Amino acid sequence: MCMQEKIWSNSGDSHFLEPEGLWNEILPPAMAERMPRSEKVGDDEEIVHVDGQSFRRRLPKLMTKRDEKTGMTIGELVMRPPGARDMQERLKDLDHEGIWAEVVYASLGLWENMIRDRSLVRAAARAENEWKVEQLQGVAPDRLVPAASVPLLDVGDAVSEVVAAAEMGLHLVSLPTGVPEGADDWNRDSWEPLWAAAEETGMVLGFHIGSDGGDGPTVYSGPGGAVLNYVETTYGGQRVATKLVTSGALDRHPGLKVLVSEGGASWVPFLGDRMNEGYRQHGMFVRPVLSALPKEILYRQVYASFQHDESAPAALWAMGYRNVMWGSDYPHLEGTYGHSQKTLHELFDGIDAEASRRIRIGAFRELFPHVSDPPEGA
Ligand code: MN
Repeated sequence: MCMQEKIWSNSGDSHFLEPEGLWNEILPPAMAERMPRSEKVGDDEEIVHVDGQSFRRRLPKLMTKRDEKTGMTIGELVMRPPGARDMQERLKDLDHEGIWAEVVYASLGLWENMIRDRSLVRAAARAENEWKVEQLQGVAPDRLVPAASVPLLDVGDAVSEVVAAAEMGLHLVSLPTGVPEGADDWNRDSWEPLWAAAEETGMVLGFHIGSDGGDGPTVYSGPGGAVLNYVETTYGGQRVATKLVTSGALDRHPGLKVLVSEGGASWVPFLGDRMNEGYRQHGMFVRPVLSALPKEILYRQVYASFQHDESAPAALWAMGYRNVMWGSDYPHLEGTYGHSQKTLHELFDGIDAEASRRIRIGAFRELFPHVSDPPEGA
């Protein structure tokens, strides 16, 4: 590829890898040992242990091979980014890749919602959030937007932590697409105090796909299993967006903003159409009645990040969905590390400048107006 002009983008989907020994550093030993940890098995599997539960999962292969039939490259990503754990190195990686500001989710920490001990999740969330303010956001407050952890086994605990995280200076909370076992589903009114607290404090709700809880990410085996499982992870984000719209949660809280990360973006127009059809055709059964059509509420308050999806940008200009946002998924192997510039050029070269800027920069700035602008040329 000839080296073209650098193209900058914000990322609605990035992660930090928990440093070795993080839990021991921020929690008492009896709590630390119950937090999520990964045990490597052979070259390509890991067992994730979470407070007495565990599940096994395949790790993406760190190799490149070419498929003889199609000529396509499989496993394009061969490197673990140097800045996966080291924040100073991370900024160098980001500058090199052309990523300016980014939402930073946990990695192993995404499994915390499997923990069933109320006092443990409460203590862990507080300790993690204090750590994130200092060790993540503090490194580059105008670029790194870490997602706060929220204890979800009691709605009062969740509200307290959202308020505390906002007071600490965080801008986003990380919520799982699937509620913890035994908890009310996201469409239930019992979560109302959480939505009210997030709206009042201006905290964005970040739902990263693949966080449905349960037995871990493997649902299918047999033919097609790898892709089936990959696709399966996206549905949770679509379900939670549908629940928050149809239950009236977003309607009651028009200032509340939702980001669905890593799940693509062209599903939003499709779901909007389906919800409108259901709302109209099954109108006699619909409750609550909303103040606007579901699609309007979905388009207004839900943002969606994608990394490679070639159809995603067109959701903006072809289907009128303005909240399409790019995301790198740095430093995960599903993401664009090592080829972000190539991906960004493939997605955005030759498209309308205003639409491109909206997807790369503008939608993100709407959620997080405190971040700075990328260098010239964006
Ligand atoms: Mn991700």
